[in-house]
Amino acid sequence: VTYRVSCAHLDLAGLAGVLVVFEDVTHLEQAGQMRRDFVANVSHELRTPLTALLGFIETLQGPARDDAAARKRFLGIMAREADRMNRLVRDLLSLSHVEAQERMRPDDQVDLAEIVRATRRSLAHLAEKNAVSFDEELPGVPVMVPGDADQLRQVLTNLIENAIKYGGHGCRVGLRLDGPAEGLGLRGPAVRLTVSDSGPGIDPLHIPRLTERFYRVDSHRSREMGGTGLGLAIVKHIVNRHRGRLRIESAPGEGSRFSVILPVSG
Ligand code: ADP
Repeated sequence: VTYRVSCAHLDLAGLAGVLVVFEDVTHLEQAGQMRRDFVANVSHELRTPLTALLGFIETLQGPARDDAAARKRFLGIMAREADRMNRLVRDLLSLSHVEAQERMRPDDQVDLAEIVRATRRSLAHLAEKNAVSFDEELPGVPVMVPGDADQLRQVLTNLIENAIKYGGHGCRVGLRLDGPAEGLGLRGPAVRLTVSDSGPGIDPLHIPRLTERFYRVDSHRSREMGGTGLGLAIVKHIVNRHRGRLRIESAPGEGSRFSVILPVSG
């Protein structure tokens, strides 16, 4: 706990004294620390690909200038590194956009079942590349919730991409929509959207921290998969903006289940 202490001499109608004020500024201190950590993380994440790019540029201008095979290989790596920076900037912009909007409740009505289908279709190529198959359990009728269609599509994209990336080659990804019903974990009627995978699962130790910006269980694997470490932080902010809840259930060797529970009325 951090206190800010201020003192003042008082002289009220001949009554002299000292006023001491203790102010609990722990939250300000923590917010400041979080901001410093965030800037340090962003700088580190940007610097890694940038250093690689600068290194390859130097090599291409010097020793590898006349080596066509090396040039081709280095340009491939440079394109990947530039793409990584691009994804990081895109995710940072998304995060700052949803953070700024967190207090505004979306008031459009959107069909969640259609969003699930459309997102699954848009990720078909990635699934195919990883030999991933989908098990879809969606109602045949529209499932309407107050929401922002683009942001809910983003939630699903991030969750399905993670299931494909971390589930591993040949895994099964379940997409399920329950409700509207009472008792799904919110006060009042809600719908529950579940993205599950038959992958290696996550040690319970990590689960509470997965939605922190830049938190990764295995940084090397995440980077190799093109992850920025911001996907679940973005999901969490969007779900908060919709007054919903994100639940993560997983155990090593038993796959993972990410559930988004959203209220059906605003
Ligand atoms: P990243 O860009 O690294 O994928 P995320 O915020 O989306 O960042 O996820 C944070 C971390 O959570 C990942 O690095 C990974 O370690 C873990 N993770 C997320 N989804 C899954 C999953 N379906 N199975 C196993 N681990 C997962």
